[in-house]
Amino acid sequence: MKIVDSHAHIDQINDIDKIVTNAQNNNVDKILAMSINLKSSEKTLELSKKYPKQVYPCIGIHPTEGLEENLIDSFNWLKKNIKNCIAIGEIGLDYWGKFSKKEDLRQRQREIYSFQLNLAADNNLPVSIHSRGAWSDCIKLALESDIKKAVFHWYTGPVDSIKEIIDNGFFVSCTPALEYSKELRNIIINAPIDKILVETDSPVYIRSLKRPSEPSDVLITLKHLSEIKNCSLIETIKITTENAYNLFKIDH
Ligand SMILES: [Zn+2]
Repeated sequence: MKIVDSHAHIDQINDIDKIVTNAQNNNVDKILAMSINLKSSEKTLELSKKYPKQVYPCIGIHPTEGLEENLIDSFNWLKKNIKNCIAIGEIGLDYWGKFSKKEDLRQRQREIYSFQLNLAADNNLPVSIHSRGAWSDCIKLALESDIKKAVFHWYTGPVDSIKEIIDNGFFVSCTPALEYSKELRNIIINAPIDKILVETDSPVYIRSLKRPSEPSDVLITLKHLSEIKNCSLIETIKITTENAYNLFKIDH
């Protein structure tokens, strides 16, 4: 039984040896390590070298990062290092927070997102997309860049938009927030299980456990998903692991 945590920020966790061992002890044998900016992307690549069998690096600039900076150096670094990663992430748009109420900052987010979508498309790599409050623009720009492989991470957009995501061959992912988020549950009820990935978005805080998450907590996500889909835990693991292998082209 092999489990994949398809989205974790392990560069933001202090005791990495411990969480990687914990993950392994819980059959979470692969972690897709997301990045949020240049520094985090560098650290993610380093970690993937330290744990080559468990940590799979994804590099990129998150929509809330670097909006007021000149990102030329970061873009050049991404281009140079793209051969060392398995996906571009976490990228996207976020119209939710106060910082993004101004149209010029939204426009800046769209430029940064589109640059990275094009980079992924040119290199035939999948993308992990953050789309909070910006669901339709995220889908629209991904399609404009001719993206073929994408996961809409922790997706809580309108239920009607699932059809467009699925019809284009994209995936949605869910986190331990399935235990309290009506929006996330609603998406997962309406998406087919062969288009769902599981993740933790570690170290995001888990309300019921009153502590930050780590990749082994993907088991909590799986438990809720299995209940929602009325599918055995073993079968839920089998399907979602296969989904992650297929999207990210990871060897079994
Ligand atoms: Zn994330």
